[in-house]
Order: sequence, then structure tokens, then C-alpha cells
Amino acid sequence: MSPETLVKPESASFSAESFDAHVMKTYGRFNIALERGEGCRVWDTEGRQYLDFVAGIATCTLGHAHPETIKAVTEQIKTLHHVSNLYYIPVQGELAKWLTEHSCADRAFFCNSGAEANESAIKLARKYAHDKLNIDNPTILTAHASFHGRTLATITATGQPKYQKGFTPLMPGFHYVPYNDIAALESAIAELDKNERQVAAILLEALQGEGGVRPGDLAYFQRARQLCDEKGILLILDEVQVGMGRTGKFWGYENLGIEPDIFTSAKGLGGGIPIGAMLCKSSCDVFEPGSHASTFGGNPFACAVALSVCQTLERENLLANVSDRGEQLRAGLQAIAAKHPQTFAEVRGWGLINGLVLSEGSDLTSIDIVKAAMAEGLLIVPAGPKVLRFVPPLIVTAEEVDEAVAATEKAIAAVGNS
Ligand SMILES: *Cc1c(COP(=O)(O)O)cnc(C)c1O
Repeated sequence: MSPETLVKPESASFSAESFDAHVMKTYGRFNIALERGEGCRVWDTEGRQYLDFVAGIATCTLGHAHPETIKAVTEQIKTLHHVSNLYYIPVQGELAKWLTEHSCADRAFFCNSGAEANESAIKLARKYAHDKLNIDNPTILTAHASFHGRTLATITATGQPKYQKGFTPLMPGFHYVPYNDIAALESAIAELDKNERQVAAILLEALQGEGGVRPGDLAYFQRARQLCDEKGILLILDEVQVGMGRTGKFWGYENLGIEPDIFTSAKGLGGGIPIGAMLCKSSCDVFEPGSHASTFGGNPFACAVALSVCQTLERENLLANVSDRGEQLRAGLQAIAAKHPQTFAEVRGWGLINGLVLSEGSDLTSIDIVKAAMAEGLLIVPAGPKVLRFVPPLIVTAEEVDEAVAATEKAIAAVGNS
């Protein structure tokens, strides 16, 4: 990092001790405090600069302090920021129109987070099962290593025991299958249907993000779609991490040649302003007034910002940038993996969600390299103990990708030498 890039903030009075005394310790935090950002860069309270390949975990679609976001935020806050869904909210309708015109869905419900969007999808699937399929005891199939959120229903949906530990009793009505395994999916459905826990829906990520940046298999998703069609049940895709252009297509499912009946979005949707959405085909929209609600859901502020993110993605042709920069990043990471065959097993991902996967035999964990990268001025995030996740803003430039690859290489050299 060159000295002229160091910007010393006015007040470097941050105290981690005071923070920890007052904020619950629900997160394992790295020991830096971030206070400013611009584009793909953020600065900490000591004035150190970082290249941000975390982007709030695949959330800051347009990076930090994007002029369009600043404009949308300031204009909407001056106009109208919140009113109840007791009234029509024009910009909510505009956002829903944009999302449905750019996806396979017909209708949207707005909430505030990924977990809430998935809760909405789970509720819609259960109501559909009761109203349309006459299933008394509906089961939703989800995948091992999936991640769907932290509410009680969504930790139950999440096929990872570490998120459920200590929070029993979990929610009934879920069953887990291995991801990308057609035979297991077929036999689970047959088995559950025999035992009067009829399957009402299959909930999957097009690419498992948290669970290790694992792309979905084309044949698997096509078979899942076919099984749902044969049985008249619903295919739900959790697009919270991979939607909104992250894979080089607007939605992750577009990489798999299928359309879901329901899908959810959140992280990238507001570019960092909290908003979630559940979208569905009109054929499965069984919600009626009173079925579901959210006080903040779809308020003018969040919707105006999300709409501006959507329009900016399109106007600035960012999907092409995602594809090109993604290819460049994977090539760079693959070269690193090839140089260290003992340490790394593979590079996998789509567009700008990529994982550098440590080999089973390596003593290193993803955290070791994440920390070393931070010392090199690069922020990256683990996806489990053995995968490094690279999810930069979608506006990332070719120079920034080169810089991230170089910093990763230096970080690996540093941990190798320690
Ligand atoms: C992050 C994430 C969620 C949860 O989103 P929150 O906004 O944290 O509730 C759900 N599903 C997937 C795939 C995610 O990556």
C-alpha cells in the first residue's frame, strides 16, 4: 500500500473494549473497525485502506458511496421514507414491476432480510400445500450444507447442525437431502410420501454460498424441476446470495436452465440498504389480505434504493463486467492453486462469487489466509473452514481484480512462511 493512499480520519477514538462491553458477542470479529468506503475500498479507524472483496458478504452490489445510491437515498429521504402497507406505495410497485420483468416471477412480497424472505417462501409453500394440494403435514426438502438464515424456521431449513445447536425444539416439516444428488432426492420424496409426510416443496440454493461456494449441477436442478412438475409441488430457490447479478446473470437459476415457482432475494437487492423480497409465479400466489405482513417491508426508502440498484445494474451493463471480471479472477486464483497443489484443491464459482478451496490435506484453515490477506490490505471471507470466498462489488475493475489476486498470493506466501 503506498503512503499517499493512507487517509487519516479526524477521530480515531474507536474502542473495541467499549464496543464489546455493550454489544452482544454474536459474531467472531476481526480486529479492525471500518468507518468509510468508496467504490471497492474501505478504510478503518486507523486510516488503513482495504480492497473490499467481501462487500458486506455479497451485499454492496454497487460498492460503497456509489453516486446513484447517494442520489436515491437523499431524494427519497427528502420525499417520503416510510408509510404503512395500509396504503399504496408507488415505488414499491415500480420495484416489483422491475423484478418481475427481469425474472420468471409474476408477483413480489417485500420484507427486510434474507431470512424473512425465506420465511415468506416457507409460509407460502405451506399455505399452497394446504389450499391446493390437500397435504395436511407438508414437508419441505432442503439440502445438506445449505444456508437459509437465522430465524427458527430458517435455521431448521438450513442443513447444517452447527446453526441449530442449542436452539431445539426446531420447526417440524423439514427434511434434508445431499446437494446435487439426484438418486437421494428421488428416494427421499418416495419415502416421505409413503410415511404421510408428503413433500410440498424443494428449497435449494442455485449455488451454495455459505456452505462452501458449491455451484448447482445442471442435471440435478433439471431433475428437481421435473419431479416438482410431475407431483405438482413447488420448487423454491434461495437467491439471497447469488441473485441480483452476482453470477453474471440476474438470477442464479438462469445458470441452470430452469425456472423456480418461488425465489427469494435480499443481500444484493438494496446494495446494502436492508430489503428482502419473495417472488413467485401467479399460479402459486395463495396469499390473501392478512396472510402475511411486515411493518417495514417494501417501504418507500428501501424500495427507491433497490430500484436504483436494479436500474444501475442494467444501465451500466454490469452483468458483462461480472462475467469478465469473474473469469479474470478465477484465472488468477487458478494460477495460485496450480502453484500450490498441496495447499489448494480447486477454484469454483460463477461470475463474482468464487471460492478458492483448500485441500483436505492442508493444515491451513480459511481464517488463517483471511487474516494474512487483511494484513496485505485485502478483505475476503471464509465460506466454511476450508474455502476462501471472493465476492467483490459488481463494479470491480480489472486493476482491482489483479490487485486482489496479487494480495492473495502474498498472503499465502506469508502464512506458508510462518
Ligand atoms: C445470507 C443468506 C441468508 C440470510 O439472509 P439474512 O439477510 O442474513 O437474513 C439466506 N440465504 C442465503 C443463501 C444467504 O446467503
